[in-house]
Amino acid sequence: MAESVNKPGIECASLMTAEVIEKLRVEIAASGGSEVFAILSRPGRGQLYSEVTIACRGSKVEVPALLSRTKPGEMTLHNHPSGVLIPSSADMRMAGHFGDEGVGSMIIDNQVTRAYIVVEPFEEGEREPVLAQEIVDVFADNGSLSQMMEHYETRAGQQEMAFVVADSLHKGCISVIEAGTGTGKSLAYLVPALLWAKKNKKRILIATKTIALQEQLLYKDIPIARKVIRDAPQASLIKGRSNYICLRKLRDLNLDQMEFDFGPDMKSIHSELQAISDWVENHPSGDRSELPFQPGVDAWETVQSDSDMCLGSSCPYYQESPFYQSRRLAAKSGILIVNQALLFTDLALRAATGNYKASAVIPPYLSIIMDEAHSIEDIATSHFGKRVSSFGARKMIGKFISMRRNTGLLEQLAKRSKRFNLMDLVSELEERAIEVQLVRDEFIYKLDEFSELLHHQFNQAGKRKSQVHLDRAILSSEELEPLRKAAQEVAALIVHLSSLLTAILERAINALEHKMDVMEGFFIEYKARLSRLIDLSPVFKSFASKEKEEQVQWLNLIVWKNNRREFDYQISPIDVSSLLVEALYKPFHSLVATSATLNLKDEFKFYQARSGIDQVKQKEIGFHQFASPFPLSRLASLIIPDHFPSPSSSKYTFFLRDLIHESAKWGNGGTLVLFTSYALLYQMVTLCEEMLGNDGVPLFVQGRDQRSALVERLVSTRGVLFGTDTYWEGIDLKGDSLTKLIVTKLPFRQIRDPVFEARSVRIKNQGGNDFKEYALPLALLKFKQGVGRLVRSQTDTGVVIVADNRIVHKYYGKKFLDMAAEFPKIRISSMDELKSAFEEHRL
Ligand code: SF4
Repeated sequence: MAESVNKPGIECASLMTAEVIEKLRVEIAASGGSEVFAILSRPGRGQLYSEVTIACRGSKVEVPALLSRTKPGEMTLHNHPSGVLIPSSADMRMAGHFGDEGVGSMIIDNQVTRAYIVVEPFEEGEREPVLAQEIVDVFADNGSLSQMMEHYETRAGQQEMAFVVADSLHKGCISVIEAGTGTGKSLAYLVPALLWAKKNKKRILIATKTIALQEQLLYKDIPIARKVIRDAPQASLIKGRSNYICLRKLRDLNLDQMEFDFGPDMKSIHSELQAISDWVENHPSGDRSELPFQPGVDAWETVQSDSDMCLGSSCPYYQESPFYQSRRLAAKSGILIVNQALLFTDLALRAATGNYKASAVIPPYLSIIMDEAHSIEDIATSHFGKRVSSFGARKMIGKFISMRRNTGLLEQLAKRSKRFNLMDLVSELEERAIEVQLVRDEFIYKLDEFSELLHHQFNQAGKRKSQVHLDRAILSSEELEPLRKAAQEVAALIVHLSSLLTAILERAINALEHKMDVMEGFFIEYKARLSRLIDLSPVFKSFASKEKEEQVQWLNLIVWKNNRREFDYQISPIDVSSLLVEALYKPFHSLVATSATLNLKDEFKFYQARSGIDQVKQKEIGFHQFASPFPLSRLASLIIPDHFPSPSSSKYTFFLRDLIHESAKWGNGGTLVLFTSYALLYQMVTLCEEMLGNDGVPLFVQGRDQRSALVERLVSTRGVLFGTDTYWEGIDLKGDSLTKLIVTKLPFRQIRDPVFEARSVRIKNQGGNDFKEYALPLALLKFKQGVGRLVRSQTDTGVVIVADNRIVHKYYGKKFLDMAAEFPKIRISSMDELKSAFEEHRL
């Protein structure tokens, strides 16, 4: 019967040696024609598979064991006794698993004559370089880009940068590249990356900081690059797991019969879940960002995909699972795009497990291109730290035994046991739940007591929000002892609670073993939440530890309107350089770190030291700078209002108000005002909003909507946008959308930032000058980023107005002026002169 069925695939003889074919025939015959699973390997890419290991016979159940025996580049194989080589859904699942690890999958017939390759392996081989001519063919005057892009102009630096990237990817070195605005750096790294990934069948990961850049890569630059590179590998965007819906969780909820105590808050969660459920019917991507509404945290957390609650290939929805669909796509892609936060989550896991070959949070990749690399120290700091908050800890306990809703895991367990008629278990659970409840109440009491003590010690003024850096002086104070003792008590109660919950879990698993088909998902969630709870204890235990010299510890204290006092405790490494060396620079073949702002007056020293690159011994490191090709001196000027008082003067805000008002209503172009603190931003909103409104100038303020929405509104109305911190970078406003950029103050970091403070203290203790070596270079780079928002194309014109007279009155002011060296400087002493400057620039 099998012979008559349609036979797709290729000849086995074109894939494997005669010896391998013979061995497989013998094994299949010996198994009576049932399924045989084998692993094939070959000496090099393009050669015949010459080695075969028979892994198991008869059942796909053994396949997970097979996975642990394979290496990237190998091919797994099994026969279909029916002779039909089309993969079944179980085969596709299996191939997806193997593909994630760089292992191929193939199906053969019982006679070992034909084979169907489900997934090709990623194979090591002689690495092939990208030739200079291939890059020239793309970027040259008459190259392929010029033929497909209207108004294409060769840009100084773009082709040079592409050479550097190609070289770095091939030789396995680290390249640090500053590419000024307009260099076209995205294509300068994408083209060599796609060419290299195509030739070598290796995966390259591109990490960016902002969503705006990810979208630009995905929807604009990659489609262009793929058009000029024939058969370029696929590129896909990878998001963190929690962005995807878990179909199992959603369907297990059984929304129609949800047994809730319908309080008003639960009703709204229920209706949100219903809306998510309706939406996912027609949106198989299951990607939260595509939802037509913004779900609340509680609703989304109930149905989001979680690694420790996932059933993996044994999940009934594995095939259609949005998270696995996205990872299958990634497994087939040569280029992965991720945000830096996800990359660092992946790096932290790889560093902890030593796994650099198989999937971790992201499928394996050989090399990394990090765009917007100026933020590497900040992002590493936040990912190599720990955090615990009173509200988070309370919420975690509430997942087991809820305070009000009767929806905790213990209550659910009792309900399910009742449904299965296990009345002995039900009464035992009820008894144990009382014990848990007592410890829970004690825990909440101690947690609140600890929170009160913290507020009493550090927030006697009762401020709504305050931050306390637990510096050396505080840590050595005797007064901290009662707090440490209270934290230890909280830690001990977590251990006690965890052991009670573990005992309940073991008892329930025993009693419900025969119901595992319906209870498995529940137990996975229970175990995952239990392990998160257990992880809290060491953080409390080490609270305000004196020994942690290498770390900075701080508290955020919050008083809610109902007077509830909460805390958020964080620990971060002071120095991330050695962590970066071990987790990022050493393990990967090559790294390209690029940004428009890495360099201070032709020197990379500051970046080198802060990022830890100067500690790398094993790799060649190159530093490159490509200036903006735009004629900046003709396009824009930097205006300094000499008549302005110092920013610390009480008159400053009124001068600033008038400057913003006059600038915003002038001409047809938009205005961006960059602040260094929310306090000044809100003060200016109060002072300017009405004035601007009276003049018909729309005002957009950070925090009133998503950044992308505010930027879009600025583009369409040419109004004025107020933003702090994140608005200093990643905003790309071309043409008239932005013609006036106001820098309210030089962007020195706030001394309140505990990490900044700890680093400054460390430099001082080591005999250095913390201002010159740390605070000033950070501010200079930030200023350079901010100023870089103005000219985004060859034809953009405008002015940067620096409303901080320290730029001319302080000795370091010149260094800031050097960051905008190309812009002519205009000093004004009145508003009339400001208007003349606007006129001169035809704004
Ligand atoms: S595979 Fe995992 S994430 Fe996907 S639906 Fe199943 S349990 Fe949820």
